[in-house]
Formats: sequence, C-alpha cells, structure tokens
Amino acid sequence: MSQLQPARGTHDLIGETARRHAHVIDTARRITATYGYEEWSTPIFEDTRVFSRTLGDTSDVVTKEMYTFPDRAGESLTLRPEGTAAICRALVTNGLTQNLPQKVFYNGPMFRYERPQKGRYRQFHQIGAELIGVSDPLLDAETIAMGHAILRALGLEPAIQLEINTLGDNESRSAWRTALIDYFRRHVDDLSNESRERLEVNPLRILDSKSAQDRALLDDAPAFASYLNDESRRFWDGLRRGLDSFGIPFVENPRIVRGLDYYSHTAFEFTTDKLGAQGTVLAGGRYDGLVAEMGGPPTPAIGWAGGIERLALLLEAPPERPAGIAVISMGGDTMNAAVQAVQSLREAGFRAELETRGSVKKRMERVVKSGASHAILLGDEELARGSVQVRDLALRAQREVAIADLVRIVSEKA
Ligand code: ATP
Ligand code: MG
Repeated sequence: MSQLQPARGTHDLIGETARRHAHVIDTARRITATYGYEEWSTPIFEDTRVFSRTLGDTSDVVTKEMYTFPDRAGESLTLRPEGTAAICRALVTNGLTQNLPQKVFYNGPMFRYERPQKGRYRQFHQIGAELIGVSDPLLDAETIAMGHAILRALGLEPAIQLEINTLGDNESRSAWRTALIDYFRRHVDDLSNESRERLEVNPLRILDSKSAQDRALLDDAPAFASYLNDESRRFWDGLRRGLDSFGIPFVENPRIVRGLDYYSHTAFEFTTDKLGAQGTVLAGGRYDGLVAEMGGPPTPAIGWAGGIERLALLLEAPPERPAGIAVISMGGDTMNAAVQAVQSLREAGFRAELETRGSVKKRMERVVKSGASHAILLGDEELARGSVQVRDLALRAQREVAIADLVRIVSEKA
C-alpha cells in the first residue's frame, strides 16, 4: 500500500509545533481566567442549522467553506467552521439565557474548505472568548484589552497592530447599505465577478474582498461615519474612550467588516505584516442578534477568535521542555529503589525518566545527549548505605547523596 498522507489542508502537531500550539492555549486560558472567564467545550459537529441560520446565507463560510454531510440517519451535520454560533447554541440549550452575563473561553479545531497556504488550512485551531449578556462599550474595550494582553504575554506586542471599526446598529447600517449599493452600481463594470454577485445581496462584504480590482474601488466608497445615528455614534465614541482607559493603542480602519454576517457596532482585528496575506491573527466584534437567531431572547454579546496556527508561527522561540532527570539502575537488586526514586521526583514536579535500555555506558551517552540536568545512579553498594550517586551533567560533578535528600539536592541545583 502506498504511504498515506494527512488530508489536504490538515497537519499533525508534533514536537516543537505542538509545544508552540499548547503555549498559545495555556497563555490564553491563564489570561482569560484573570478576567473572570470560564472554559466551555462544545461538540466538533453540530446540526447544520446552527451555522447556516446564523452566519448568514451569503457569508463565504456558509456558501463555500462548510464541511456538511448527512450522517447515517440522514441528519445534516456540519463540522464547526467557527466557535461563536456553537457557544450561543449551548447558552440557549443549557438554559443559561436567564443567567447572564456569561464569560466564556474556548479553544479547539475548526474546519473550513479553503485553499490551503501558509497560515490558511482546512483544519485549523482557534482560541476564542465571548462576553454574553452585556451591551456597554467599556466592556467591548475590555474584551479587546484581554485579547491584547494575550498577544503581549506571547511576546507579540511589537509585531501586531489593533484596527477597529464600527458597523453601527441596524438602522445606520441599512442607510449606509443603500448608499453603498448606489456607489457600486455606478462602478459595476469594474467589480470582480464575485462582488457583482454580492452587490444586491450583501454589499458590505465587498469591503472585505481580497480582489485587487475591488480594492481599487474602495477608496472612494461612501464612508460609514456619515451614516451613523446618535446611538451608534455614542457607542463608537465609548469604545474609543474605553480603549484609551485600558491603554490599548489602535488605528481606525473603515474597511473592517469581518467575514461573518452577524456583527453590529464594534468590529476589530489584530493584524501583523509578518504573515503575508494571512495577516489577521485575532479578530471579532459585537453580535447582538445571534442569540435570538438561535431561538433565545434578544441578548447582546461581543467576542473574538484567534488563529492558533498564525499565533504559533509568530512566536519568537518555542517554549522549552524542562530538562529531565534520568534514573539509572546499575543492576543487582536496585530496580525497586530506582522506581521509588523516579516516582518521588515526579511527585515533586520534576520531569524524570527511567533509563533502562543497553549497557550503563550506552545509557549515560543517551542521557547526556538528551540534555538532562542530572543522572541518578543506583548501585547495590550505595543503596546498602541508603544513598545514591547524583551526577550533575552541567557541572560534570558527581557525589553520593542520601536517598531521603534526593529531591532537595536536585531542587537546589535546578
Ligand atoms: P480571513 O479573512 O483570514 O479568511 P476570517 O475573517 O475568515 O479570516 P474569522 O472567522 O474571524 O476569520 O476567524 C478568526 C481567526 O481565525 C482569523 O483571524 C485567523 O487568525 C484564523 N483563521 C480563520 N480561518 C483560518 C484558516 N483557514 N486557517 C488558519 N487560520 C484561520
Ligand atoms: Mg475566511
């Protein structure tokens, strides 16, 4: 049989790649907890309607990117393309809409049928946060500040920039939409084929187009700022004041509309110029209509999702594994004592491993090569005295140590 490969657009997480990945998740989990967030985990596949109803009939995700299939009973299921719709579904089905606010952190694989390239895959992973049940621009700013704190903790602050925009409320958006349709109709010959189709259904999406032809038209497109009603303007001002309070620098970018249909008011992206066209690493916005679409009461909410692969690519140095301690039984009756020694080191929090294969010389060679900090050598003679040999591999020094003192001695030197 020819060798099997991972499916196109998927990859294995092994070694350094896996450590980078885990570091992003651990950091996000730690920081979101300091903001009072709790971790949720929802199924990887859902009833297709969870996504098709909510992400919008015209979004790229729903029209082109979903992995949708009938199961053996004929139910239409979809591998989740994103996390927010599923979190809102879980909020409603678990009866939590009367128990607000909810602050939710999640992470896990997402699936989109996309053209694979650096930073763009068919199975990728996200960290995400949702603040459900409040509508206050200061808390939008806080949610963004939390994303910023994660990026800073990952050492990415110098590489990223925050871009923000407002999509206003429904009333403002529909006035602007009319003006946009007018404008693009006048330039319909210069639009890409895809955008020509979007024109009547969802002209806002044209602002998010990646086609150079469309982008050339955007400079003169009507700016949303002049269509904001008072309420939308108040929210937008509040967001910017809030970001100032949290000390988060930002630039305004009227082109940020986000890929999905459910946003209102706040929209934002943290971007980098270090990943080519795949420059958005963490992005989100306010989605006040989504919980109601899912069958719950009208519920305001804001959230974001970050692409773990893109963040992992940006990390300067992958986190190191801690140096290990090797425990070597030198034969005779020492195996029991070796097991006890290795277990006591593990209970004390050390990475400790039994080294059992080959001659003592071979084992020592392997241990040195592995970068271990210490080798613990157990021989009959020392054991009879209640002690072991501890070799410090960095200092190349060896001494006899009482078994009772082992954990203390390796701790001192670590
Ligand atoms: P893009 O414009 O790059 O397609 P998007 O608007 O579709 O992004 P979101 O749905 O907002 O992205 O997802 C949030 C984050 O998840 C993105 O900013 C990105 O970092 C990451 N992401 C999205 N799609 C992919 C993918 N196919 N592969 C890897 N990461 C992805
Ligand atoms: Mg996309």
